[in-house]
Amino acid sequence: MIMKEKVSSLKAIGLEALLRRLPEHHSRYADIENELRKTRAGENGERILANVFQQYQFPFKHYVFHDVNLQSTGKFQIDTLFLFKQGAVILEVKNIAGHIRFSEEHNQMTRTLENGQVDAFECPSVQLERNKILLEDWFHAHHISMPIYQAAVFPRPQQQFENLRKDLTLLFPLEIPVYLRRLSSFHPTIDVSQLTDIANKITDAHREYDPFPLTTTYGILPSELLPGVRCKQCGSFGMQSIYNGWGCRHCGKVDPHAHVQALLDYFMLIDYRISNKEFRRFLQLDSVQKAKRILGQLGIPFEGEKKGRFYVADLKVIRELHDLSASKVPK
Ligand SMILES: [Zn+2]
Repeated sequence: MIMKEKVSSLKAIGLEALLRRLPEHHSRYADIENELRKTRAGENGERILANVFQQYQFPFKHYVFHDVNLQSTGKFQIDTLFLFKQGAVILEVKNIAGHIRFSEEHNQMTRTLENGQVDAFECPSVQLERNKILLEDWFHAHHISMPIYQAAVFPRPQQQFENLRKDLTLLFPLEIPVYLRRLSSFHPTIDVSQLTDIANKITDAHREYDPFPLTTTYGILPSELLPGVRCKQCGSFGMQSIYNGWGCRHCGKVDPHAHVQALLDYFMLIDYRISNKEFRRFLQLDSVQKAKRILGQLGIPFEGEKKGRFYVADLKVIRELHDLSASKVPK
């Protein structure tokens, strides 16, 4: 049973918004582009892993969690956590192209691309071991005792490896069911009701990962971002407030909903709370009334009254604004 589905990562969505508002000559532009590329590659790998569990039916009681975030002696995130009577299995995805070599003596893997370029990465065993220890601590705090298994998943079946590490299990996606069925032949360490109880505890303890605000994360000043409402048709900033929404000075597009993305950008990039004044400054809007109407119509929760009022977004509000903005693409 899939207890927690794979959802699209807000981090990639936030990084895309950051790149749109960051001037191309900014010193961090290339870093942010690189971060977005890595985040998307990770996401694609995790989606391939999630598909395995969607397509495959296991003939025994089990629970699957994708992107689970827990806290014990430290915060940790597991790409996929599989629970059954034999124990817990941590699966971490590494979506890295090229020929991969794991060295016996160093906690490093090197990959060689076809053009001969060689890059070094931290060995997935480091992250797996760290997550295993933190999950053990979490189990210990909840009076749970069961074995923890771990494997790194490489989503490209055509990839070549040289694995000299005896302690590291590497799997391609289609090998996962075989690996889990083999473990399921081991002696059970808990019964079905204990298993369900543990799955419920994990569901209750999970907190969605919050990467925002991104300017703080990446050390960028909010004043360095391009302000204004962006035209979805031509990509330019500075749409003007008109009676039925927003008008683009460059391509003439009229969009009644263009402010949604701008407000979302503010919450993801600058701060999770915004006043009417800050909203007007960021959207380059003069009318206090229009600002108030927009914020009210979008149903953003608020604290305080009059000039001391702040509209406050949590991850749920951010996800709703994203879905709303994505569904309002002007024709
Ligand atoms: Zn335009």
